[in-house]
Amino acid sequence: MFLLACLCGGLSILATNQTQAAEKRHLLLIAGQDSHGPAAHNFAEGIQLFADRLDGYPGLRVSVAQNDWPEDETLLNNADALVIYSDGLGRHPVREGDRLERLDRRVREGMGIGMMHFALDVPPGTKGDAFKHWIGGHYETHYSANPFWTAQFQSFPDHPIARGLEPFAWRDEWYFNLRFREDMEGIVPILTATPADETRDGPYVNPRGPYPHIQERKGQTETLMWVVEREDGGRGFGFTGGHYHAGWEEPMMLRSILNALVWVTGLEVPEGGVPVHTQVEPRYASIDEAIARGDLADVQRHVTTNPASLHQGQNPAMAPVQQAILRRQTEIAVWLISQDGIDPDLRDGGKRTLLHLAVERNLPSVATALLKAGADTSLLDNAGWSPLHHAAARDHVAVLKAMLAAGAPPNVLSARGGTPLHEAAASGGKEVIKHLLAAGTDPTIISNTGVSAHDIAIEHNNEAALSVSILASPPPSQ
Ligand SMILES: [Zn+2]
Repeated sequence: MFLLACLCGGLSILATNQTQAAEKRHLLLIAGQDSHGPAAHNFAEGIQLFADRLDGYPGLRVSVAQNDWPEDETLLNNADALVIYSDGLGRHPVREGDRLERLDRRVREGMGIGMMHFALDVPPGTKGDAFKHWIGGHYETHYSANPFWTAQFQSFPDHPIARGLEPFAWRDEWYFNLRFREDMEGIVPILTATPADETRDGPYVNPRGPYPHIQERKGQTETLMWVVEREDGGRGFGFTGGHYHAGWEEPMMLRSILNALVWVTGLEVPEGGVPVHTQVEPRYASIDEAIARGDLADVQRHVTTNPASLHQGQNPAMAPVQQAILRRQTEIAVWLISQDGIDPDLRDGGKRTLLHLAVERNLPSVATALLKAGADTSLLDNAGWSPLHHAAARDHVAVLKAMLAAGAPPNVLSARGGTPLHEAAASGGKEVIKHLLAAGTDPTIISNTGVSAHDIAIEHNNEAALSVSILASPPPSQ
């Protein structure tokens, strides 16, 4: 049975190749003018890299047009598919003359078309409507968002473009909330990921936002690459990443694009995807440096090539996960915490747990990840405080809220028998106090030194605390 299946597959590939040898599909790649210096928006370099990787690909002929538009326009007239990687809006290749109409004619004849990164950005109206027809949607200023964030791709649909894709993460200027066709009609999401709440809160690259309609979708998954198949028989795709040229060193980033470039011409994507040969060696010398630079993909490379680096980098005094939290590299910290073998209660020389560090830096997503990983919220540091005590004392509302939401008991006691509410009464703000009370903290608890939260609010003359009625008077037992 196995042999038979193999033979059939082999024969059909052979047959396909023979047909295609007669007439190769023609892919035209258009690179816009570079706009961001050496590391980003290197459209010419990126397009050339794709063309090189597809050189000799069975059944495919690739031509490249640099600087916005092919000098030889017959290339456009006989292209089976066209993909544009360029700036958008006033620098988009379709900005001039009758280019939009000409492309529209070709698309209606069944030409495949794809837009990458900034090339998705056209104004609503004639151009936006054309994009919705061609590829299913476009980036719309003030509606879509363009922050930098690390998208973690965990699963992929059963679609030819997703062949050979394995879970990966990449930090990019991933646009999301594009202006898609009504009810996402005909759109098949290929790359989807969930932005962290902090990502939605901004700032975005431009305009800096945040927009309430983006913040309202916290926790929701966003579509970062998608495809359509039109009634004219042509195929279309959009890919919102691609800000950094370095993205094409990430094998799965490269594979998603190479698969798309092959598919959009009408060719079949091979089982296992278009082959990619990229470096798997880490870019930076140590995991410490990868963390300092905020490069999650490189952190993952270090862990893949040397699993021990998950626990120990160059710095003998500080584990990678501790470094990530202290450097406020939240995405890296969250990823490290999710790895098997990471101790969520790892402590430093001051007996501070990872949760203490997350509280000190006020990082709600890290605290949530730690609680999910089973971190013990009752552990005290050398100062005798639990993480929640520190959050209350420092008035770190976001992290306190996240910990309470994840089930941290609000009546945890310090070495001196005080609750987090005692610390909030000394130096916290009204909101911290409100959240503690709502979570069920007991304002009548008396510490080992014999004081209530009310006594402390009076002693520190904390107006915010005294404005909360339950703290304004002594507890009934006093
Ligand atoms: Zn960009």
